[in-house]
Amino acid sequence: MDSKVLSDLQAALAADELLLPGGLNFENYGHDETEDLYFAPEVVARPKSVAAVQAVVRVAAQHNVPIVTRGGGTGLSGGALPVQGGIVLSTERLNSILEIDRENFFLQVEPGVITQVLQEEVEKVGLFYPVDPASRGSCTIGGNVAEGAGGPRALKYGTTKDYVFGLDVVLANGELVRYGGKRLKDVTGFNMVQLFVGSEGTLGVIVGITLKLLPLPRHRRTLMAPFANLDDAARAVPAIMQRGVIPCALELMPQACLQAIEARRGEPVPFSDAAACLLIEVDGNDEAVLDSEIELIGEALAACGCGDVNVADSPAQQAKLWAIRRAAGEAVKTISPYKEEDTVVPRSELPNLVRGVHDICNRHGVRMICYGHAGDGNLHVNLLREGLSEAEWTFRTEAAIPEIFELTVRLGGTISGEHGIGLVQRGYLHLGIGPAAMNSMRAVKQALDPKGILNPGKIFPEAD
Ligand SMILES: Cc1cc2nc3c(=O)[nH]c(=O)nc-3n(C[C@H](O)[C@H](O)[C@H](O)COP(=O)(O)OP(=O)(O)OC[C@H]3O[C@@H](n4cnc5c(N)ncnc54)[C@H](O)[C@@H]3O)c2cc1C
Repeated sequence: MDSKVLSDLQAALAADELLLPGGLNFENYGHDETEDLYFAPEVVARPKSVAAVQAVVRVAAQHNVPIVTRGGGTGLSGGALPVQGGIVLSTERLNSILEIDRENFFLQVEPGVITQVLQEEVEKVGLFYPVDPASRGSCTIGGNVAEGAGGPRALKYGTTKDYVFGLDVVLANGELVRYGGKRLKDVTGFNMVQLFVGSEGTLGVIVGITLKLLPLPRHRRTLMAPFANLDDAARAVPAIMQRGVIPCALELMPQACLQAIEARRGEPVPFSDAAACLLIEVDGNDEAVLDSEIELIGEALAACGCGDVNVADSPAQQAKLWAIRRAAGEAVKTISPYKEEDTVVPRSELPNLVRGVHDICNRHGVRMICYGHAGDGNLHVNLLREGLSEAEWTFRTEAAIPEIFELTVRLGGTISGEHGIGLVQRGYLHLGIGPAAMNSMRAVKQALDPKGILNPGKIFPEAD
């Protein structure tokens, strides 16, 4: 890094806010959870205040140095990777819960708060932040906002975008701006809050977040339903909804996924010999209503060929079933090097998506394990390298992946439901959006970051 940039950063920050190459855990800031990609930062800033964030951004702007904001580093599209070097700005020390407003059901937080910590804190006072990515133990709320994160409960409760009502953002010139706030209604100018949701660190650094909260539902029922074939499991998803029940979660785990989880955890997983399982949860305040919903779900499952189900009605049993589902991502990724595609289609097209991705991967000779948020039509398709040579792996995945995305779009879906475009999907962005949409997004990027210093090399295709 240019010595003038470094000396300006040293002047702007306290010594312990700057980490230089060779410093403790410096390498950790060069990767996230995307495949085995690594890009070395030149320097890591770990500001303890919003003013320090502004100072870092001002130095970057003055010297035209890339600045890549990093939350928990759990991203799956390479968003936090410093592909052009420069400064990694970690939010790890901006991790305070500023206010739980029990009167207005709002929460004010700094971006580096771990999502699970935030959830547990609001639950202590009977409130609920429902968005629960499977990575919630290590991802940050800032990263969730920047990625527009979802999770199993999106079916009933929506995704991050449905809860963000205010943002404090440090813009590309170092200016601090507040959009929205603790109010349910606000049509004062453009809806800038939602523009920043899913902007992947390319438009500004989010330094404060106002989230809407809900009352914590008092009861839940969770069940695991096995199927003799994958197609029946996929068909059961719309069948449940057609009976007028909206579960808070409806998750699909095919056999290969269940067996990977069993191997990873080293303990038996219920129904791991079934072709596929659905994990289904309903929640609410009235136990009688939940019981009748479970009955309707049972009818839909039986109509799709499901036999016995495993119903968990104690919190301990429910936690066990969720631990299985939350282990899916890690379990599949430890089998072999992989590429994960985050396909999403209208729910009713899920059976066609599942069938289609299997056909494509079989045709190209790539092993595939899929699982995901079936109720949202959001399927995580993991291609596994296993014994393939590097050349074969590249050749086969370069043929299979565009076909998977083309299928997704043909079915009325798109190329990412919740993981974002980041680095690894940007070559496919044109498959998900048209040229006019892409141009309008570029115009927004140009207006807010004219020097292109904020997370360069992300979202837009390489030629840009
Ligand atoms: C095992 C596993 C399970 C997962 N399950 C889910 C799931 O169920 N649902 C889901 O949606 N995702 C899931 N993910 C993906 C990932 O956890 C989410 O994308 C998460 O939102 C990333 O948060 P993070 O704090 O780790 O962000 P990072 O990976 O650090 O960064 C992600 C992006 O956000 C930007 N960013 C981070 N903080 C800020 C900020 N304060 N201001 C501006 N930009 C910022 C970064 O520049 C980057 O572009 C999973 C990942 C793993 C490894």
